[in-house]
Parts: sequence; C-alpha cells; structure tokens
Amino acid sequence: MRVLKGFLLLVLVVGVAVLGVWRGWLSVPPQWNPWAPLDVNTPPNLLTRYKLMALRNDPQLCDQALATSGLRVTRQADSSPQANCPLSNVLRVQGGEVALSSSFLASCPLAVAFALFERHALQPAALTTYGQKVVQVDHLGSFACRNMYGRESGARSQHATASALDIAGFRLADGRRVSVLKDWPKDNSHAQFLRQVRDGACDMFSVVLSPDYNAAHRNHFHLDVGPWWICR
Ligand SMILES: [Zn+2]
Repeated sequence: MRVLKGFLLLVLVVGVAVLGVWRGWLSVPPQWNPWAPLDVNTPPNLLTRYKLMALRNDPQLCDQALATSGLRVTRQADSSPQANCPLSNVLRVQGGEVALSSSFLASCPLAVAFALFERHALQPAALTTYGQKVVQVDHLGSFACRNMYGRESGARSQHATASALDIAGFRLADGRRVSVLKDWPKDNSHAQFLRQVRDGACDMFSVVLSPDYNAAHRNHFHLDVGPWWICR
C-alpha cells in the first residue's frame, strides 16, 4: 500500500512538472524542453531524437529548426499527387559551412538531421582525427523513386520521399579525400575517422547503414530519418 502511494505521488509530481513545462509555468533550458523547437546549434541530447521525430508531422516546427541550421536551401514545388513518388514540402540543399559534391533534394527533417550531423558528428570527428575540418561531402544522391534495394515489390525506400542520403566520402581542408569504399577496410586514420562518423550519425539519423551492415553498403553510408531504428 505504501509502495502504491509512493508511486502515485511520483506520477503526480512528474505529471505536474510535465504540465508546468508544457504550459510554460516552469522554465527549463530549450534543449531540455520537449516543446521548444529544435536548435541545430545545440549539441544533441536525449530529447533530440524525439524532437526530430516531431518535425516529421509538423512542417512549421521543421522550418523553425531549419532556420537555425545555416544551410542554404531553396524550396521546391510539390509534385503532383499522381506521381509515383509524390513529394511535398521538399527543399534543395545547396550546402552550408561544408560544400556538397552536388545539391540534393531533402525532406525538411532530412535537411535538419544533415545539419546536426555536419556540426555535431562530422566536424568534431575530423578535428579529433586530423586537426582540420571537412570542406566537402561527396554523396550519391537522396531522392530516388524506388523500393528498398530496388526490388520489384516490398516497402518503399526512404529515398522515395527524399528522406535518405547516401554519402560516399569526404574531402579535408588540406585536399585529402576519404572514401568509404577504399578506406573503410583499411587499418589507418581514415578508417578510424569513418567509424567515428558512422557512430556519430546515429545520434541524429534513425537509420545508419555502413559497410558493416551488408555488401550493398560497401561504398556508402545510408542515412535516413524514417520510422525504423538501425545503427550499423
Ligand atoms: Zn541509401
């Protein structure tokens, strides 16, 4: 009975605290307030995944997060609903502090996750390993109207909604290139860097697939913001 009372009291206290934060009676730093918009400049924490998920159903909230990202983007017109893979609310990401091998189409949540990745996973890993930054991300594309692994039937790939990006490598400030295909199997600083980048990406992308996952990913990292959770 005493245990039950204690439990009910705890539920009450937590409930009042959550209500207080929601209604704005209690002030907590925005990064610890689940209802505050996500700020790309703030290092990811336990709430980041939740906040990223919330962006999927709230274009306005996503725009607010995107505005903090420093990415250069252009809005794309929605495709017709009859299209095989209709796109709505998509952007073309031109680059940010880091250049891109080419611009890519992105759903807003993908763009926000990419900005978080660049700032809080990619560049810290480059500074730790090389003492310099990555200046360009080489990618293989984001949007592709297809099923997973290009199969005839089965689930649509996250690429079909521009919610996934395939990254093949990076260029460092001193001109050196790091390639997933060539450097992942080696036993050197490039290989270490790539593993650090892969692990870091799991903080902001829901699915991260590297050459460790299967042979289809031997030459790139697949990063997406879809409903599954895999980090490998
Ligand atoms: Zn992919």
